[in-house]
Amino acid sequence: MIKINTVLGTISPEALGLTLVHEHMAVGFPGWECDPLSRPYDRKQIAQLCLKSLEPLKAYGVQSIIDATPPDLDRDVDLLKEISEKLQINIICSTGRYTEDMGKWAYLRQRSKSRIGRMDQELYEGFMQEITKGIGLSAVKPGAIKVATGLNGISPVEEALLRAAARAGKETGLPIITHTEAGTMGPEQAALLIKEGADPKRIMIGHMCGNPSLSYQMSVLSQGVHIAFDRFGLELFLPDRVRIAMLVGLLGVGYTDRIMMSQDFMGCVLGRGGRLPEEAGQKVANWSFSHIFGHILPALKQAGIRDEQIRTMMIDNPRRLFSGE
Ligand SMILES: [Zn+2]
Repeated sequence: MIKINTVLGTISPEALGLTLVHEHMAVGFPGWECDPLSRPYDRKQIAQLCLKSLEPLKAYGVQSIIDATPPDLDRDVDLLKEISEKLQINIICSTGRYTEDMGKWAYLRQRSKSRIGRMDQELYEGFMQEITKGIGLSAVKPGAIKVATGLNGISPVEEALLRAAARAGKETGLPIITHTEAGTMGPEQAALLIKEGADPKRIMIGHMCGNPSLSYQMSVLSQGVHIAFDRFGLELFLPDRVRIAMLVGLLGVGYTDRIMMSQDFMGCVLGRGGRLPEEAGQKVANWSFSHIFGHILPALKQAGIRDEQIRTMMIDNPRRLFSGE
């Protein structure tokens, strides 16, 4: 029987319920910890900040959230545990890595350069350690493997990451969820993961709503994987209207059972803080943990999408991503 690892223990796929498949509680982009003006890391305060923005989700019936923060963006399982306990929502955390550009690669790169270890092997061993033994000294095990590639290309480092993830996913049954940069490399990610033995049904190619080309969408979907429209509200990159138009089109031609929805929201960004310039700020004014429920689902319904299709995207598809059914 398949069990899903949450930060508070295992649950059955049926217990997932309404699920947001790609969000972040706290994220620290490498370097924040070297900024003398960064706010000190205060777990209690960050948990409170996150809880405040998560609270509306209870009324919408959200039961589970995948936190897609990889270890190199300062994943903190104790924070996730505290939030999950207080909120009474399942949180599934991720093992994995971020892009070569934005993640923490110096350590592994140095080891492979000095031929102490091979990067794909050491990544794989790290994922297996967390999945089978737990993260650090906590008993928490990740429920998903997060991988990421940069703009318009998959670097050798990222290729090693994808290969290691496919191998660990194949051996453990954990789903692989991805970050794509600005709507590029989705088809290539899917092809590489599948070639390395990952089960297409347990792959979710992320940030697909960042590319408005239907042929791009089709070239990923034709490989049998799931895709995520998981950046609603991030209108800095693309207007929600475009994402909705594309989603309605794909649902209309029969892809309801392959698409999931989320917002890629960040409850707290570590560092010194600050505001976006006004014009950019306006383009993320609606971005939140509950934006889908407040604004996107009503727009989908107005476009003729049925409740049953929304349930499939938000309940059935996340369950099948984990169960592989
Ligand atoms: Zn993300």
